[in-house]
Amino acid sequence: MDDPILEFLRSQSHNYRCRVCGSSHKGSQLRKIGQQNNKVVVQVTCGRCRDSFMLHIQFAGALSAEVEEVTAVVPSPRDAEEIEGDPVTHDEVLDAHQRLAGFQGKLTDLIG
Ligand SMILES: [Zn+2]
Repeated sequence: MDDPILEFLRSQSHNYRCRVCGSSHKGSQLRKIGQQNNKVVVQVTCGRCRDSFMLHIQFAGALSAEVEEVTAVVPSPRDAEEIEGDPVTHDEVLDAHQRLAGFQGKLTDLIG
């Protein structure tokens, strides 16, 4: 019987894509490299382009696996400290609307 960690990863692998070729990791090879206490290192090799990387997994139980590399948190742009540029005023929107309303011609003439 297969290692339960690998079983778990295989069951989740279709949710992840290869960083190199974009192929689903469903067909990738998973190989356990090492295990120490509650940490496991698994080598993932893409079944399509053969790109390979190490997955460092820390778990506190069979169902609470934490896949560090895959669950890296990407900050939302909304969380940015500052929003660049001045906010568009109501007058500017109105002005653009009036100019466009009276415009006759091709859309490409507006640019440049
Ligand atoms: Zn790949």
